[in-house]
Amino acid sequence: MASLKISAVIFDLDGTLLDTERATRGIMAEFLARYGKEPDAEKEEKRLGKMHKESAADIVVDYDLPFTADEYSAAIMPMYQQRWPQAKALPGVSRLVNHLHRHGVPLALASNSMKQHIELKISHQHGWKECFSVILGGNEVKNGKPAPDIFLEASKRLGVDISECLVIEDSLVGVRAAKASGAKVVAVPSLQCQEEYQELANCVLNSLIEFRPELWGLPSFEDWVQSALPIDPLYMSGMISKAFQQDGFTEAIHIYLFPIKFRVYSLVGRRSKQLGLLRW
Ligand SMILES: [Mg+2]
Repeated sequence: MASLKISAVIFDLDGTLLDTERATRGIMAEFLARYGKEPDAEKEEKRLGKMHKESAADIVVDYDLPFTADEYSAAIMPMYQQRWPQAKALPGVSRLVNHLHRHGVPLALASNSMKQHIELKISHQHGWKECFSVILGGNEVKNGKPAPDIFLEASKRLGVDISECLVIEDSLVGVRAAKASGAKVVAVPSLQCQEEYQELANCVLNSLIEFRPELWGLPSFEDWVQSALPIDPLYMSGMISKAFQQDGFTEAIHIYLFPIKFRVYSLVGRRSKQLGLLRW
């Protein structure tokens, strides 16, 4: 393997760190239904990772809506803004971000979203804002992804040469931008076919649970327990009720479960496909 020195990590946000797609699912269908239209899954998939402004113009044309792109944005944006804070962190994300931050690795967030939208999206993620020394929105650079501008600007603000930056991205648009910038790229595809990612990215993962920092010259995790690794805790609470008949009477047992936190371990072994997929 060629000499490896990653000094900083730049993350995309939507679909990479946060499951905003799940949190906002149904909004487009609900909106289009008002005009007697239905979303086209193929067209929507191609929009992943693009700037909102660019997508808005395409949506108005694709669905023949009676709006300008700006009017469409003004009508639909409040629906997204209401749901964004409900978006949950994707598996392995909090563990990785906290680990890198704790070890002093400079971290940036670089998203095609507008800066104020990024801040709203991460507002419910405890401690995230403090972990990123640079938070960069698509409205702060001349050209959004797939142009390399946002990653070049993030590396400049981090004070780390782009060749020593690792970009983690879920969309093909973002992977193309990262590749064009000269950074190393880990792809964590959320929806699309993996073949194109294999050609562009240095490494393709199913989720950030599989990410091995030491393969990039970054500090390794210390939380392995033999060959299993912890994943996000599971919380349970509620009430279990069981009704039964006895001597002609119906009786019931109620068991109250106070909130319980379970530490969950994945059975994924230390040996990962990641080594075989790394390319330089
Ligand atoms: Mg994304």
